[in-house]
Amino acid sequence: MEKFDVIIVGSGLAGLTTALELSESGKSVIVLEKNEVIGGRTSSWDENGMVVESGLHRHIGYYEALPKILKKVGVEVDEIIQWEEQIDIRIKGSKEKKSFGISPIYGPIETIKGAIGNNDLLSLEDKLSLISFFTNGFLQYIKHPDKLDQFSVREFAEKYHVSEDALNFVVIPLSSGIFFLPPERYSAKAFFGLFLPGVKRFYKLRIGAYLGGMTEILANPIAHQIVKNKGVIKTGSGVKNLIMDQGIITGVQLDGGNEVRAEHTVITANLGGAKKILANHFSTHPFFENLFRLPTMPAVTIQMEFEKPVLPVDRTTFGPLTSLASFAEQSRSTFKHVPGRISIILTPPEKFLKMNHEDILKNVQKDGKELGLDLEAGLIQYRVVSHPEDFHSLEPNYDHLRPEQQTPIKGLILAGDYTRQPFFATMEGAVISGLNAAQLILGEQ
Ligand SMILES: Cc1cc2nc3c(=O)[nH]c(=O)nc-3n(C[C@H](O)[C@H](O)[C@H](O)COP(=O)(O)OP(=O)(O)OC[C@H]3O[C@@H](n4cnc5c(N)ncnc54)[C@H](O)[C@@H]3O)c2cc1C
Repeated sequence: MEKFDVIIVGSGLAGLTTALELSESGKSVIVLEKNEVIGGRTSSWDENGMVVESGLHRHIGYYEALPKILKKVGVEVDEIIQWEEQIDIRIKGSKEKKSFGISPIYGPIETIKGAIGNNDLLSLEDKLSLISFFTNGFLQYIKHPDKLDQFSVREFAEKYHVSEDALNFVVIPLSSGIFFLPPERYSAKAFFGLFLPGVKRFYKLRIGAYLGGMTEILANPIAHQIVKNKGVIKTGSGVKNLIMDQGIITGVQLDGGNEVRAEHTVITANLGGAKKILANHFSTHPFFENLFRLPTMPAVTIQMEFEKPVLPVDRTTFGPLTSLASFAEQSRSTFKHVPGRISIILTPPEKFLKMNHEDILKNVQKDGKELGLDLEAGLIQYRVVSHPEDFHSLEPNYDHLRPEQQTPIKGLILAGDYTRQPFFATMEGAVISGLNAAQLILGEQ
């Protein structure tokens, strides 16, 4: 039987961060990952001859914890990101697209044009209604974040009389584009909470595409350093159960039956996975009651290769009022080895989770047409990548159910984007949760 100081279940950014921090401090760690590839929701792999990723990701310029972790392992964010100063919004039923500047410092002209220009899309009245919506949202998030969780984004927009056009062309693209939820299902707390750091650090506001598959450019460099620090990373090693001895967690049992022992176990599995691991011992424990009540939420993506690029630039694009929540051409950024490539996050995810892949393709091609995109000509191959229960629900009234990293059970700590930290379900949030988990263990010394 193997014995370590700390077992880390899961090799997403939360797990890798925990393992890096602990191994740097001299702890012996083992990371147990059930998949064959490390990285979790930030991974990339070959799926029957096509390189795919867990889904279209954007790095936000105001992230701090993730860049620090990457710097520790010798990766400078600027070297792995292609920054975008604008986002595009495609309008259903027309071939038109509108560009919005999102980066006041790096693309000031585009940002000003986005805010006060595009008058054919939004009238002055529309814009004023948005000012009131955003100002009140941020103020209420600062003063009473939990009250804000009682409202959906749509309810909050109605409260501040956001006009129909402003809703369709700004609020819907932002809500369904970012967490693939329509505004009636998206908590106003999660919505404003995610943007607030951008207001506080507006000078860092810009988004970027990764210049390569995420396992290759994010997960692997962190993993290499963990191994250099004498940590162990095992893929294809699903954890089935926790081992409990007189109320203390002393290790885990793997799917094959093998056991690994440690003084501490950090579960960094996604919410659905964490529930399964915890169910055996803790389904009725009061501390875990909220975790079991916190619903999961799926995500579904389609990734397509073409004979030539479909879009003229690689840029984040929203397709409000269609199934194409957010998408981007990637053949000049993330996947340069193919002549044309598009990655699309679909909304509403539940509908697509149930559908067969051919029907998903047909739906997407039809909706693409409505946005002025030809997703049929020159299609070489496509894959659907789904995450059935990886996210915690960002719908209203659930945020208070997210658990802290610290648990009352000796030897057991949680981490992962669903655990309590201010960046919701993002890469930055996952890293912060991993830092907190490591700190809890190191703080005990
Ligand atoms: C389509 C999509 C788009 C996204 N876009 C963005 C974006 O633009 N910007 C952004 O910041 N974030 C984005 N995210 C969110 C971001 O990817 C996640 O918040 C973050 O990666 C979560 O990291 P994590 O370590 O908490 O969980 P995960 O990455 O899910 O890691 C959990 C790991 O645990 C493993 N596991 C589960 N059960 C077991 C078990 N029993 N035994 C062993 N291992 C187990 C899983 O296989 C997985 O590897 C996106 C996510 C998706 C899916």
